[in-house]
Amino acid sequence: MIKLNKPEEGPTIPHATTGHCRLIKAKGKIIERYDNSEKLVFNPIYRDEIIKKELMVKVQKNKCCYCEKLIFDDFEVEHFRPKEAVIHNGKLENPGYYWLTYDWDNLLYSCNKCNKKKGNDFPLKDEAQRARNHNMAITNELPLLLNPSAQDPEDYLEFLGLEIVAKPGVNNEVAIKTLDTIKLQRDELFHLRCEKFFQIRDYTHNLYEMVKDDEELELEARVKCIEYLESKTQNDQEFSMLIRHNYDKLRPNLI
Ligand SMILES: [Zn+2]
Repeated sequence: MIKLNKPEEGPTIPHATTGHCRLIKAKGKIIERYDNSEKLVFNPIYRDEIIKKELMVKVQKNKCCYCEKLIFDDFEVEHFRPKEAVIHNGKLENPGYYWLTYDWDNLLYSCNKCNKKKGNDFPLKDEAQRARNHNMAITNELPLLLNPSAQDPEDYLEFLGLEIVAKPGVNNEVAIKTLDTIKLQRDELFHLRCEKFFQIRDYTHNLYEMVKDDEELELEARVKCIEYLESKTQNDQEFSMLIRHNYDKLRPNLI
């Protein structure tokens, strides 16, 4: 998980004839339904292609907001604060954060697996502070879940080899709960990270081994290895945090 640079304002989706923003209208409608004690029916406009493109391509560089896996086709618009219900003491409680369904701040894009693991979980330090409806402030909440568009996950989490763990320190509770809620240590991710790690390590080591007895070529290989490794640590690369935290392990010994 890495910090996402999300612009403060999201895209607007104007209505074809009236020109009014459809997200604002949908938000007004869902609040109205709540106030009238009607069944909450969600307009799926929050997963409009305009939103998906802005989040997926521009903000998240085609990667899952939680696990940094590259996006193929099993991705979903994720509500950081769940829209329909929240889990409390293992039980599903309605409603969720219905009024944030269309808020840019609450939208992320995640892989299907992270989305399912997180589900309606939104753990708080103090359940009594939970905002139960649109008249209550979410600013009183202390979430035990990292929001990669608001916090830098690398202040909380680190890789020890191929294992992602909580950094020791004051933020430990948030880090541990985040790892557990999204299951960032799950087998599927461990295998994918292994694949990426060894693919990069084999490339740099093979390159270096081939030329290490030739002084001129060796220098070239050193430069090429470093450039290659640097490119893999960039935020648009799959599992960039893993590569950054394992940089020294991925360099051939003599570089
Ligand atoms: Zn994911």
